[in-house]
Amino acid sequence: MNNQITDEQENVILDAVDRFLERDVKPYAHALEQADEYPHEIVEKMKALGLFGATIAAEYGGLGLGARTYAQIVERVSTVWMSVSGIFNSHLIMAAAVQRFGTEEQKQRFLPRFATGELRGGIALTEPDAGTDLQGIRTHAVKKGDRYVINGAKTWISNSIQGQVLAVLVKTEKRDELRHKGMSLLLTEKGKGFSVTRKLEKIGYRGIDTGELLFEDHEVPAENLIGGIEGRGLNQILGGLELGRINVAARGVGIARASLNDAVAYAQIRKTFGVPICEHQAIQIKLADMATSVEAAKLLVRSAAEKYDAGERCDMEAGMAKLFASEAALTNSLECMRIHGAYGYSREFNVERYYRDAPLLAIGEGTNELQRQIIARALIARNPA
Ligand SMILES: Cc1cc2nc3c(=O)[nH]c(=O)nc-3n(C[C@H](O)[C@H](O)[C@H](O)COP(=O)(O)OP(=O)(O)OC[C@H]3O[C@@H](n4cnc5c(N)ncnc54)[C@H](O)[C@@H]3O)c2cc1C
Repeated sequence: MNNQITDEQENVILDAVDRFLERDVKPYAHALEQADEYPHEIVEKMKALGLFGATIAAEYGGLGLGARTYAQIVERVSTVWMSVSGIFNSHLIMAAAVQRFGTEEQKQRFLPRFATGELRGGIALTEPDAGTDLQGIRTHAVKKGDRYVINGAKTWISNSIQGQVLAVLVKTEKRDELRHKGMSLLLTEKGKGFSVTRKLEKIGYRGIDTGELLFEDHEVPAENLIGGIEGRGLNQILGGLELGRINVAARGVGIARASLNDAVAYAQIRKTFGVPICEHQAIQIKLADMATSVEAAKLLVRSAAEKYDAGERCDMEAGMAKLFASEAALTNSLECMRIHGAYGYSREFNVERYYRDAPLLAIGEGTNELQRQIIARALIARNPA
């Protein structure tokens, strides 16, 4: 990933993102979110801005941004409407798997079309009976001549209804003793035997499509096996999850910051007992804690992103950033609601949306329970007694 851009170049990109958010997202987010409507026009603007190629290398038509700049984009987008970030985030995790582990032929064939947004998609790992325990998946692919035949079901897959392609985690080895080794990642374009059985209804993260999928003798060309060698799928997907966790953490900073911004503004307008509520010490303590969490979360994200950009191992750092920032989003969104009193409970304002969106961050890209295990294991491995 090319992260050799100057601060000035970074500012130009972030200013362009801010203008897009102000002009093309903010005025429409509330209505689209309440209606759970896919933001087609916003997606067209995102294509023009190059967001679908944000982290794809320039030689394949992307912007080639490093994780540090990318995280700031995700944070800004999530401050306005988190769902919009989901449309390019899991798409870019799929792209990262191709870029890091794909063959040159796969990179040439897919990455330029991913970068323009002509082909969009995400990653399909989760199944009805397997989420955290990915080794328990049952979807399998059997090689027949020059094709793989996929059978199985996936659920909770973002971008699976509006997108055209997914990186699907499958078993290519059925023997139980090889559970973790027998997994592969296949790029699967929609076609015969691949159906969306249901659009899932969610309390938050609305507007973006999340689907349940069925594969019934769905055929994929053998050259779509990422990296061309069976059995590497789990490592390929776990490698991509570091960037995924940095990006969920950045969403957390966005929600935590939006909650803080709204709370700071409202606390100066709303009066009780003759003074703005920001003059009550109880409210000041909330605002101070919220602001401190935002800054701490932002620094953790930056530190993990810089390690990622330097090519260093950052499982622990990305896990810490994801854990802390998502919990900050949860806490700040609730505090923002409390500060708004009854208005926080109204569907007319954004406050209740932050409160509905935040919990996803504690679940997606590895639950926070799992993050704690990742952090503790890395801590012990890095500090042998
Ligand atoms: C809106 C949304 C979008 C999503 N998008 C995608 C997507 O695009 N692609 C995709 O593949 N998936 C997606 N997911 C699925 C998501 O990644 C999973 O929900 C997540 O990994 C958790 O898996 P699970 O729901 O099966 O929970 P489970 O694995 O069943 O876990 C249930 C509970 O047990 C805890 N737990 C599990 N194992 C342990 C352990 N060893 N120790 C302690 N606690 C444990 C968990 O932390 C959790 O609290 C999405 C989910 C949502 C809600």
